[in-house]
Amino acid sequence: MSAAEVLEFRIVTDGDWRGHAVCKGKTHLFFPPKAERPQARARREAQANLLCTTCPVRTPCQSFARENHEYGFWGGESEEERHLAGFTVAAPIGIRARLAGR
Ligand code: SF4
Repeated sequence: MSAAEVLEFRIVTDGDWRGHAVCKGKTHLFFPPKAERPQARARREAQANLLCTTCPVRTPCQSFARENHEYGFWGGESEEERHLAGFTVAAPIGIRARLAGR
């Protein structure tokens, strides 16, 4: 096991993955403001996803959000993407917005 693999294993198993998050102080990118329009959501989530692609704890973050049916953008996934992957949230915002447009 390489040093990088050991670090990743420890991050995943020591339960302290939040301490390695690169999104500290960027909450505004990961949770929507009131009455956010779909285009603004897409732009905000694209910025959040950029951070997630560089984050060393993406895997445990994504698992946590899936297992806990979290709202917001976690581990490179939106609520809608988690919902469509089978990890439902009560009212995923993307699906809610699409249904409202019908
Ligand atoms: S994967 Fe994304 S949401 Fe999760 S801790 Fe890292 S930057 Fe934050």
